[in-house]
Amino acid sequence: MADIVLLGAPGAGKGTQAERLVEWLSIPRISSGDLFRAAISAGTELGLRAKGFIDRGELVPDEVTIGMVAERLAQPDCADGVIFDGFPRTVAQAEVLDDLLADMGRQVDIVADIRVAEDELLRRLGGRWTCRNCGRVYHREFSPEKVRGVCDVCGGELYQRDDDTPETQKRRIQVYLEQTAPLQDYYASKGLLAEVDGEQDIAGGFEGLKQ
Ligand code: ADP
Ligand code: AMP
Repeated sequence: MADIVLLGAPGAGKGTQAERLVEWLSIPRISSGDLFRAAISAGTELGLRAKGFIDRGELVPDEVTIGMVAERLAQPDCADGVIFDGFPRTVAQAEVLDDLLADMGRQVDIVADIRVAEDELLRRLGGRWTCRNCGRVYHREFSPEKVRGVCDVCGGELYQRDDDTPETQKRRIQVYLEQTAPLQDYYASKGLLAEVDGEQDIAGGFEGLKQ
């Protein structure tokens, strides 16, 4: 049983490493970004509330995000631990996550802080292609799909996210520095923060954590 938080700026590789951890640990991943994108595609009220914030590169308000994640965390497949990808993103979200896990007799076990310099983040976001069907991410240069435009795993169509435009990328990195980076201190003070060098290649990304 392990509850793991992946912290890092947009493009740091949270989703990419989360997929590898899912296979390694056999526990599910909760990606708040994927949950929002699914809600937007499905045209739900939650999706409608979130879309404007996401398109502008802002955070979706805490009350919307927390309710959505709490509902997902209550599903039976989350009983043995979860990899949190993109959540929490504010100190208020981190505090609620602590409470939600405490109610289940659990706690955050480790926070992997994936560190990547800004120019590399922009290179990664600029070349990111995402599967419309299963959400798997590719990179035109660093981890391309086998057949151009087609997901290797499910055959779905690959697309570039609306919030991966150059202006929105920069805004999202700024929002990360202002609102999410304070979580480094929050978790460091609890002795939970593990720094990961995110500039290694995809396969090398988590060697430091596998102790
Ligand atoms: P995040 O979830 O942190 O926003 P992603 O996992 O979606 O980041 O990765 C952003 C982009 O960078 C994707 O196109 C992904 O294929 C690519 N990528 C992820 N990790 C690496 C890496 N270690 N080296 C090169 N490219 C990477
Ligand atoms: P991501 O897929 O993690 O890059 O998230 C895409 C966008 O969804 C972010 O830029 C935010 O607008 C929104 N989002 C995802 N997770 C959160 C969160 N924990 N809190 C607030 N907004 C979020």
